[in-house]
Amino acid sequence: MAGRIPENVLEDILGRTDIVEIISSYIPLKKAGSNFKANCPFHHEKTASFMVSPERQIYHCFGCGESGNAFKFLMRHERMEFPEAVETLAKKAGVILPDQDNPVLAKAASLSTQLYKINELAAGFYKNNLHAASAAAAVKYLSDRGIKPAIIKEFHLGLATSGWDGLINFLRSKNISLALMEQAGLILPKDSGGYYDRFRNRIIFPILDMRSRVIGFGARVLDSSLPKYINSPETPIYTKGRNLFGFNLSKDFIRDADCAVIVEGYLDFMIPYQEGIKNLVASQGTALTLEQIKLLKRYTYNIVMVYDGDTAGEIATLRSLDILIDEGINVKVVPLPKGMDPDTLVRNHGVDKLKVKIENAVSFFDYKLNVLKIRHDIKDAHGKAKIASEMLLTINKFDNAILRGEYTKKLSEEMAVPQQHILEELHKLKPKSAVAVPVPQPAVLAVRQPEINPAEKLLIKFMLEEAELIEKVMQQLSPADFSDPRTARIVSVMQDLVLQGKNIEPSVLMNYFSEDDASQLVCETMFMPPLADQEREKAINDCITRIKVQRLKSRREHLHIQIKSAQSTGDEDKLNSLIQEFHNLIKKGD
Ligand SMILES: [Zn+2]
Repeated sequence: MAGRIPENVLEDILGRTDIVEIISSYIPLKKAGSNFKANCPFHHEKTASFMVSPERQIYHCFGCGESGNAFKFLMRHERMEFPEAVETLAKKAGVILPDQDNPVLAKAASLSTQLYKINELAAGFYKNNLHAASAAAAVKYLSDRGIKPAIIKEFHLGLATSGWDGLINFLRSKNISLALMEQAGLILPKDSGGYYDRFRNRIIFPILDMRSRVIGFGARVLDSSLPKYINSPETPIYTKGRNLFGFNLSKDFIRDADCAVIVEGYLDFMIPYQEGIKNLVASQGTALTLEQIKLLKRYTYNIVMVYDGDTAGEIATLRSLDILIDEGINVKVVPLPKGMDPDTLVRNHGVDKLKVKIENAVSFFDYKLNVLKIRHDIKDAHGKAKIASEMLLTINKFDNAILRGEYTKKLSEEMAVPQQHILEELHKLKPKSAVAVPVPQPAVLAVRQPEINPAEKLLIKFMLEEAELIEKVMQQLSPADFSDPRTARIVSVMQDLVLQGKNIEPSVLMNYFSEDDASQLVCETMFMPPLADQEREKAINDCITRIKVQRLKSRREHLHIQIKSAQSTGDEDKLNSLIQEFHNLIKKGD
């Protein structure tokens, strides 16, 4: 993990960082004894198995095994590269990083960093195009669509002109390689060799992430030709469905309003936003993904969906409802008339019309029932059964039994069916608790290789808790005596650090591991329940003894194989010395 940035600097940053503060700025943490816990942000769960230790400055999930220190959390949660996570926390902690302008460091800048840079350059290029004299048609188009100059500026809108290599030539002049342009998704290879610009003759909507970095582009035609929109392909920094358009601008408004209005497209965001509805995000077309919902949950648990009034919008809304309810979100829906979207509604009827609709958004129940009533005949027995089973699928997503009860009661009234029948159907569905993640057991990890000898694990825990113990243990055992490569590696690093007189705080220690396994194990042991002082001494000795016994056993097995092989080859000398060794070993074992 480390390497370019000196260990003492990393240690300094960690020493001035509070992991609880960092993690709680992304997910809500609850106090649990001396630790904090939460629903794991890295896997789907209903029972909190994600633990954060303020004392150790580490986190660990007993459900999925994800674990680490503050750097690792930012890398995983914010998809940062290691240097970026270090930089972020250094800035927050007021630690000045050495040699930022060192050409070696600059060269080593990660691919992601380079892609952000290229996208930034491309966005600047497209933006300038919009100010050229030849851009009159595009400027007129934007003004006809009701987009004001201030918004064009705020959203960094731009123009891709009709040429085949405008962007290529511009980026080349900035010494950007074609390979990188292609990786950024900005250019495409020609069949005849060479490349051409992906976006041509289109209005450019840069897509920014939460930290306002350009991660991709959306591009719209100026006329009615098809496809209306094309987007950047997936790249190392852009994954469809992991981002919400406009969130970088609206997140504070969403937090203040404690409510997010979800729309589909760029203009559905920009037009209402410019007219004063600021607590918006655009999902960019499809049903909301779990990742998008998790992003939103950092800011609010109240969501109003305003998707297009067409079949695609309806399907996407219905699909999103189930995931939202499953994630514990309080969701409402604004049904729009056929052919209407938030952009057209605001342009044709004014922003107040949309505001009123948002205030009067209907419950998931009313929305879904209305949609189903149009699809199926509620007067017909089979139609009724269809509607009920579809409704129950969503009702069953509620964790709360009272809510499930209320909604089944309402459903029975709306459909004029005895509640008893509705309940019978509900019970046929998989019970809620059966799909939930089981209560975590410290010893059981989801992603598991061969089980580690518990004595090795426990001894590592003791050594991490008490540095003086390391020397004592190392007088009796060597790293090679640990049978698992992970425990052996941890012990070896601890031993080196102690010899150098260095700190072996768990959060610092893991900066020395490039493998996830070893740091995961460190975190896991730190969350194992503590032992009372009087039991501790005995447990330490037991662990050492067991590891020695295990070591003897494996040496004996090894010798046994060697002896057999010497017997079969008839190597008398070798056989005699092996047998001697075997006797010595047995004597030692007693
Ligand atoms: Zn997890």
